Amino acid sequence: MKKVLISGAGVAGLTLAYWLKKFGFVPTIVEKHPSLRTGGYKVDLRGVALEILKRMDLHPAIVEARTKIKYAVCVDSKGNQVSEMTPDLLGTRLEGVDLEIMRGTLCVLMKEAVGDSEYIFGDTITSIADKSDGIFVEFENHPARTFDLVIGADGLHSTVRKLVFGDEGQFSQEFGVYISVFSFQNFINLSDCEIEQHSLRKFVNLYGDCNDVNAKAALAFSLPQPFSFRDPQEQQNCILEAFKDATWELPRILAEMKNSSDFFFDSMAQIHMPRWSQGRVALVGDAAYSASPMSGQGTSMAIAGAYMLAGELAETRDYLEAFTRYETELRPFVKKNQDLALMSARIMSGSLYSIVLHRLVALLPRRIIRYFQEKALVETTAAANALTLKDYHGKNR
Ligand SMILES: Cc1cc2nc3c(=O)[nH]c(=O)nc-3n(C[C@H](O)[C@H](O)[C@H](O)COP(=O)(O)OP(=O)(O)OC[C@H]3O[C@@H](n4cnc5c(N)ncnc54)[C@H](O)[C@@H]3O)c2cc1C
Repeated sequence: MKKVLISGAGVAGLTLAYWLKKFGFVPTIVEKHPSLRTGGYKVDLRGVALEILKRMDLHPAIVEARTKIKYAVCVDSKGNQVSEMTPDLLGTRLEGVDLEIMRGTLCVLMKEAVGDSEYIFGDTITSIADKSDGIFVEFENHPARTFDLVIGADGLHSTVRKLVFGDEGQFSQEFGVYISVFSFQNFINLSDCEIEQHSLRKFVNLYGDCNDVNAKAALAFSLPQPFSFRDPQEQQNCILEAFKDATWELPRILAEMKNSSDFFFDSMAQIHMPRWSQGRVALVGDAAYSASPMSGQGTSMAIAGAYMLAGELAETRDYLEAFTRYETELRPFVKKNQDLALMSARIMSGSLYSIVLHRLVALLPRRIIRYFQEKALVETTAAANALTLKDYHGKNR
């Protein structure tokens, strides 16, 4: 069992490629985008994912390239500061426990760590046929080929999942909450700091690094009706409508959105599947078990799952047994981490509960808010560590 096709060069796909290669497999990575996708906001790395990154010798480079936020402030709708927080609490970051890095920077570092491998950029799988001696794969732009295994690491809207397991709707749990991330010119001179603005059904986070002329905006909002347009123009219209009453610097930031080269938009949905594998095909990362950005754990979960999948394949003679072990051992960890998103989803949902909660939070003294933030930090750290990592030696290779 040697040739493995990985669909998706995101965090899950790249981590998997690294470990498969290390264990003697030959990974080929097909990525829909014409190049490595380096968009996205800050992502958190914590718990067992940090240990895996150490085992990949990537930890020092990530420490060097991480965001170095000196302070974080909350502002009201006019941009007046209402509170200042230590960065650990605002983003549940804690020195030694959590690392935060721009998603794109992490992907670049991971691709470097993978080294020489076959990448097929700008293409997608169009059909998968499981045969007795291998798996026959057709691509949109390249000739068909046979592999030993196919792994779907192609994110929330996975094509591999759709081709093998069926429509996304069966597995997707939508919260009616959406996120957009894009770069804008750093005209507000954000310098290693972040600004948050909370309002009912909306959340804005801006971050700028002192060495960059651009800053990043992350806008989250809920909508009463589900929105599923894949066209960026329709997505931007939806954002403009959601933020039509925005004041302070937001209208200028929104005006820059349409010229931004890294515009990203998606729903904050979770994926719940009864099985993550079928025959010679398995799923990993968001494709199998998205927890949504509201969990703050999607990237760490992708790293953990990819490490375990590669490790079990390397240690187990039979790929079916490896898939079963990967799934059985990872599921409790996934459940704990997916649960982290549920409170944020309720707060953002725009329900009566969220309206009451929103008003209540505005009245609470700082120390009570701090208590809840510390509690969230403890829960996140516990979930991020709720997996015992095995040492895989690839004895079956
Ligand atoms: C551009 C981008 C920006 C993001 N920004 C944020 C963010 O700001 N905050 C946050 O919490 N999460 C963000 N995410 C999601 C976050 O990266 C994931 O939740 C997490 O890292 C798990 O990664 P993953 O590899 O499973 O999925 P993803 O990171 O989604 O990676 C999937 C990869 O598969 C590729 N792909 C998709 N379809 C196909 C196909 N048919 N064929 C081949 N390749 C395909 C995608 O282009 C992507 O490179 C972003 C994802 C992307 C793609």
